[in-house]
Amino acid sequence: MDPAKRASVGARSANRLEEQVKDWLCYGEDLGLGPYYRDRPPLHAIVEATGTPVESHGAATSSATAAAPDAISATVPTMMAAAAPSRAAATAINVAPPAPQKSAPAVKTAAVATILPAAAPSLFESIERIADDSLPRIREDIGDCTRCKLHKGRTKIVFGTGNPNANLMFVGEGPGRDEDLSGEPFVGRAGKLLTDMIKAMGLQREDVYIANVVKCRPPENRLPEKDEITTCSPFLMRQIDAIKPKVICTLGSCSAQTLLQTTQGISKFRGEWFDFRGAKLMPTYHPAYLLRNPGAKAEVWKDLQKVMVVLGLQPKKR
Ligand code: URA
Repeated sequence: MDPAKRASVGARSANRLEEQVKDWLCYGEDLGLGPYYRDRPPLHAIVEATGTPVESHGAATSSATAAAPDAISATVPTMMAAAAPSRAAATAINVAPPAPQKSAPAVKTAAVATILPAAAPSLFESIERIADDSLPRIREDIGDCTRCKLHKGRTKIVFGTGNPNANLMFVGEGPGRDEDLSGEPFVGRAGKLLTDMIKAMGLQREDVYIANVVKCRPPENRLPEKDEITTCSPFLMRQIDAIKPKVICTLGSCSAQTLLQTTQGISKFRGEWFDFRGAKLMPTYHPAYLLRNPGAKAEVWKDLQKVMVVLGLQPKKR
């Protein structure tokens, strides 16, 4: 290649790199991460953007949104006892047999949980269930939680919100700034996109239940750490058991890796069905990721369409 041509190719790829870095910094800002590029531990993998053509996420016929690139190391399962009702300290916890599953229609796309470790099914599957558990009881047990270090920086505990009998439950990572202030999950920019995604599926936010892996905002919106996830996720398991959704849609790497007990990057297994605690689990990208990578919306929309088939939902009419 002649030197002029090489120089021009070099300049083009430098520009592209600069654009990518800018995108990532904006993405961090969208998450409210602040200087996350300094604070984050190095092991977090970054899932590449997909380059899929984008359409607006607002309408059902459009491409859907998609997701979060951040990968955390797989979290170790938690001790359900830590999240058990405090009265259980005095009384033996009343353990119920596995909850009856709502009858989810068989789905052709249902996949075996091939990414799970050999000892799978997920260790969460073997965690005992608390009989007659309920969302108010779980909230009461969380109390004014100081179980992990995240309590130090939080304004409000973000427990979860929505229909306690929802067929569809979304699970995100953890509260950001807006959520920490309001006490509601997914109310910031990513939350608005999630609301659009829900509407595109022909539902309202009130129809579904939305919760996070951790209930307190990590400082600078860094990823939740393993000990924080281990401490907090039993409450999420209890929420799942109490709600008994037909479908759980995990948003981003943190929730998928936590529930499925894997360290694999989400791009490897999003869009596949997994069985989880009596529900069908569909991992998809995080809406915050879609804000920076609108090209991934088409993939998320495909994932949501699979969920809609299982739930018998019709897309929103334009
Ligand atoms: N991101 C999440 O994962 N959860 C929220 O509640 C808000 C943003």
